[in-house]
Amino acid sequence: MKTKENVIIKVEKNSIAEELGIEPGDILKAVNGKPVQDVFDYRYLINDEYIELTIKTKQGGECIAEVEKEYYEDLGIVFESGLMDDAKSCRNNCIFCFIDQLPKGMRDTLYFKDDDSRLSFLQGNYVTLTNMKDDELNRVIYYHLSPINVSVHTTDMELRKKMLKNRFADKLMVYLDRLAEANIEMNFQIVLCRNINDGSVLEKSISDLSKYYPHAKSLSVVPIGLTRYRDGLYPMEPFDRQSCMDVIELITRWQKKLKKEIGSAFVFIADEFYITAGAEFPPCEEYEDFPQIENGVGMISLMRQEFNDCLRNLMPCEIVKEVSVATGEAAYSFIKELCETLEDKFSGLKINVYMIKNEFFGGKISVSGLLTGRDIVTQLKGKRIGEYLCLPKNLLRSGETVLLDDMDLKDIEKLLDTKIRITGESGSDFIKTIIDNGGKL
Ligand code: SF4
Repeated sequence: MKTKENVIIKVEKNSIAEELGIEPGDILKAVNGKPVQDVFDYRYLINDEYIELTIKTKQGGECIAEVEKEYYEDLGIVFESGLMDDAKSCRNNCIFCFIDQLPKGMRDTLYFKDDDSRLSFLQGNYVTLTNMKDDELNRVIYYHLSPINVSVHTTDMELRKKMLKNRFADKLMVYLDRLAEANIEMNFQIVLCRNINDGSVLEKSISDLSKYYPHAKSLSVVPIGLTRYRDGLYPMEPFDRQSCMDVIELITRWQKKLKKEIGSAFVFIADEFYITAGAEFPPCEEYEDFPQIENGVGMISLMRQEFNDCLRNLMPCEIVKEVSVATGEAAYSFIKELCETLEDKFSGLKINVYMIKNEFFGGKISVSGLLTGRDIVTQLKGKRIGEYLCLPKNLLRSGETVLLDDMDLKDIEKLLDTKIRITGESGSDFIKTIIDNGGKL
């Protein structure tokens, strides 16, 4: 049951909504007399050359606005909730859930376990489909919403029920069949847990899921994230060097097989496995069109290639300056190597590369995206910084200047008495931020 009203918070300049006199604070009640359940209903209903909007004005009156427009033309309305509905929470209790391993006292929204297929289409979230009802699946098919990102974890349905601690988790393949029949594009993910869904179980999952190609574009295999807050949770063994090498060997074998059989590697290995194994990263071609880059798959190879391409076009010269770069444990060696290459090319350039240990989450968490402001400040206090400190963009909340522990970049600047520059994810942006004086957020 929908609890939110569709409150308008912004009307785009020169839009149809502005022309109609719609204002922030007004509420959209219906389109063509039909109540709007969520953003997908809204987008579907406004696709027409003539529509009627029922608007409750902020003064309390109600009116009907008639709109003549191009078929797909947008109205220029921004709603308070991007989803135009409450996000659906998950019905699982996964043994590997990261949210269960968060320390107490963080921002409330971080503890919300969403599992909403609409967020998969809107933001690329991965969903388990365990709370998807038939009418919702029918709606996805009817509206032809695509692509959908599915957290599979295993195609052994008895094991899936145990891993997700949900007795309804075994309906997955029925849903995947229906989505494939309807030509909905899919991407899959497996969170790999050592001695649980790896080895022969992983082989079966890759084999079963590759049959959905080309409806399914890719499958990523990412390692479980283990923090130090696991008291009372399912006992988990972290991946070590040898077990990561085993995972790489197994998946590489499947990639070769599938390339021959279906023309795509289909299954891709998260960068973390190569880092822990100390193995060489594959060249960019092996990641095809990087279908799972957002999932930490192929980021290092892509950044290295962009870095090298950009550096090749720059003439060696003297740049007399000292700056610092801070990064998580996982990417430290890689970032250090890039910085040494820059120092070799530009005489006078000195880059201090600092590895920040994740004391906040502890355990095996080593990626820079989960670093907190507190750890950065504590570990860099008193260290030589130079003109400014470069931090990676992935540690900021999307579109904001705030880190996971709510510390703002301005607070870090103040506490460390330095300027901060944010390096983007591309290799060329990394170079520019370090050698230019114009790095930007
Ligand atoms: S689906 Fe599983 S991993 Fe995701 S939030 Fe729910 S319990 Fe956690």
